[in-house]
Amino acid sequence: MHQFSEGHLFINGSYRQGRGEEAKRINPATGNADETVRYADAADVDDAVAAAKAAFAGWSRRTPGERSEAMLALAAELDKRSAELAELETAQTGKSIRMSTEFDVPGTVDNVSFFAGAARQLHGLAAGEYGAGGTSMIRREPIGVIGSISPWNYPLQMAGWKILPAIAAGNTIVLKPSELTPGTSLIFAEAAAAAGIPDGVINVVTGSGPVAGEALVTHPDVVMTSFTGSTAVGRKIMAMAAQTAKRVHLELGGKAPFLVFDDADVEAAAHGAVAGAIINGGQDCTAATRAYVQAPLFEAFTARVAELMDAVVVGDPTDPDTDLGSLISHAHRDKVAGFVDRAREAGARILAGGAAPGGDLAAGAFYRPTLVTGAAQDSEIVQDEIFGPVLTVLPFDSDDEGIALANDTPYGLAASAWTRDLNRSLRASEEIAAGCVWVNDHIPIVSEMPHGGYKASGFGKDMSVYSFEEYTNVKHVMMSRDAAAHKEWQDTVFKER
Ligand code: NAD
Repeated sequence: MHQFSEGHLFINGSYRQGRGEEAKRINPATGNADETVRYADAADVDDAVAAAKAAFAGWSRRTPGERSEAMLALAAELDKRSAELAELETAQTGKSIRMSTEFDVPGTVDNVSFFAGAARQLHGLAAGEYGAGGTSMIRREPIGVIGSISPWNYPLQMAGWKILPAIAAGNTIVLKPSELTPGTSLIFAEAAAAAGIPDGVINVVTGSGPVAGEALVTHPDVVMTSFTGSTAVGRKIMAMAAQTAKRVHLELGGKAPFLVFDDADVEAAAHGAVAGAIINGGQDCTAATRAYVQAPLFEAFTARVAELMDAVVVGDPTDPDTDLGSLISHAHRDKVAGFVDRAREAGARILAGGAAPGGDLAAGAFYRPTLVTGAAQDSEIVQDEIFGPVLTVLPFDSDDEGIALANDTPYGLAASAWTRDLNRSLRASEEIAAGCVWVNDHIPIVSEMPHGGYKASGFGKDMSVYSFEEYTNVKHVMMSRDAAAHKEWQDTVFKER
């Protein structure tokens, strides 16, 4: 596995040591310290921004075809290193090797290929005559140095989501990955250099939020902050970015509802709920967290979900037979357990899980898939983001009530509706306030489709051509075709007498 012996910063095409504080990176599945990391300080962030600024003129003036070619080479480079990337992703996060191998790495390679193509498809309005005597056209231009900050749950995929639309559009970037999981973002940048993407186009600074993160957000040469993380930190970022009037793109927390109408296929809904709730240990901003089930199906649905959850194999994440590895850290596991313990004390019933496994797994940050019923709609376990493998289930009677419950949290990232009725599908798609509504499924994402939130889940889009709205400026160019020295419209302002 990659040792990062030259440091955990990748600036201007090479690795280097940070000059900030030193920290141990813990493998969450074993509790052992895997490596020592020297973080970036504000001066390291300055260097990375300076490298990105210097690279901007050259990269932004490359033709879309040239940028695309380099990105296709990056896809091939990442694909070549897929086994190494998957192993490292699992070691950093504790997620199962099946997830890293079958979801994180191929999803990222596909995203690179998509943006390599999309780089050549940046369209604007056709030129036209909209005012008398003038021809207008639209230029879509890169905006400059982007400062991006990413979370620990899908480190490689999040690096891709931040870097790819930015560089496809001709920008350069400094990424600050989560300090818990920098490895695969660094390899992404290293692979880009090997693929021929020029030095300085992609820079990675590993460091803490309050030091490296804040230095990046407040840096005067960074024109935009793109952030994926919690809503609490997102609010801070927005306030900090205001100091330099930066553009911000925020992908924040979620609390996805899972709405089961009484005509749904219970077996399909139960499978969807388990997969949707425990994916990535539930540390997925779109994970199914609140199931609402119409009364006639409530008992059958909860019994089947509990049965499927009990059969989930929790264990060593490097074992291909493991379904659910560890959570990201012991502190986070304790936070997840705290939500369940307090709900239990308040009278909720735990129908599956509700505890950390013991035995061989006691040293790791593991938590069993957990099903909770009987919690109040306004309780913290139903309202707040837990970010663990925990699903609450509540019954509802009318369709109106189900949709109202689905919308009853501050978040609005994703949701699903389970029904075989066309009108119910259409109604749920329209009336649930979320950036994505699945019907009869929960979780699938594709590079061609946008991902982004409503309400406290943020604004702006990752993936798809919609993400270019964040990473480009739209410029109006108007050329007069009126050769007169004094144009007619100027009479309104002053008449030549
Ligand atoms: P977090 O908000 O704690 O941290 C995210 C990043 O922000 C990290 O890199 C962290 O170092 C940095 N950071 C922290 N404080 C900062 C500060 N003061 N200034 C600048 N940067 C700072 O989130 P996390 O715990 O790493 O990730 C989990 C969260 O991410 C969940 O809320 C989840 O829903 C969200 N998430 C959202 C999406 C989405 O697309 N909407 C995707 C993945 C994760």
